[in-house]
Amino acid sequence: MQRRQFLESAAALAQAAQTPLPPANEKTASGAGEVSYNVQIAVERKRPGKPHQGKVLAAIQPHCDDIPIFAAGTVLKLIDEGYEGILITVSDDAMAGDGVGNGEVAAKNENDTREVARRLGLKECIFLNYPNHNLDAWPIIEMRARLVFLFRYFKVDTVLVYDPSGLYERNPDHYITARAVEWAAGICAMKWDYPEFGLAGVKPHAVNERYYFARGPQLVNRVVDISDYIDRKVWVNLANVTQGPAGHSGETLRRRLAAQGRRLPLLGNDADTANRQYTKYFALGRDRARGAAHGLNWAEYFHYIGPESSDWDKYIAENSVPL
Ligand SMILES: [Zn+2]
Repeated sequence: MQRRQFLESAAALAQAAQTPLPPANEKTASGAGEVSYNVQIAVERKRPGKPHQGKVLAAIQPHCDDIPIFAAGTVLKLIDEGYEGILITVSDDAMAGDGVGNGEVAAKNENDTREVARRLGLKECIFLNYPNHNLDAWPIIEMRARLVFLFRYFKVDTVLVYDPSGLYERNPDHYITARAVEWAAGICAMKWDYPEFGLAGVKPHAVNERYYFARGPQLVNRVVDISDYIDRKVWVNLANVTQGPAGHSGETLRRRLAAQGRRLPLLGNDADTANRQYTKYFALGRDRARGAAHGLNWAEYFHYIGPESSDWDKYIAENSVPL
């Protein structure tokens, strides 16, 4: 190294030593939101106005009742705050619900799901139609490719789905859907994954936010206050009359008790009240427990992963100097 170059580089290092260093944040670029089991919990409350105007969410579920049970309050909140959204149902829902056979069950669940999407205020309702209870026998890479196409086509910014890292999830439809979505969102913005989609005008697009929900233990770092949306969440769940914990369950219980000469005052005196009250206080009782644990009336739990590198962007903006 020449003496002049050495002096210049020594001067540059001396100047650098006087500027603050970038934030040393283990979470940055981890892709997991948190890198510790000791997660920091943030409460997400209702925001005034339309702060999410222009953004698109995709609510993705293997079965017609998953989003209604675990995330409908948050979807309603985000739509209220300006998001547009789509509902994607991955299985054909032929294996659960009332009907004379698989075909009728699937058709009835499909109708229920369209009504769920309407009540959630979502603009599209898409069915991928993989065999119910058997998603683990189908190539996940095909599901992933179809999801990448949809995320790019609709310019999805935010996904809500089962937690791909959730514990003790026994249903393959749940964990396969979660894993397919996880990596579809991961590669959605990469130009060398499915570049041929671009020929149809469907260009790479980044998914920046993930809300993962779970039936079992998970690393909850986001508690969404859905107190203002619980009654509409009940209404969404009531659309699932073919399967799920809501539907006509309240009226069924009210009639069973009446046949025994008894009644539950909570269920009121008519079918509509019975169904609403049963759904709110029995089927969605976990939301009340989750809210109470955080000083809220009603809440949903998520592992949330937000946009990466924001700390670094702030550092660069604050510490870059003219040439
Ligand atoms: Zn399910």
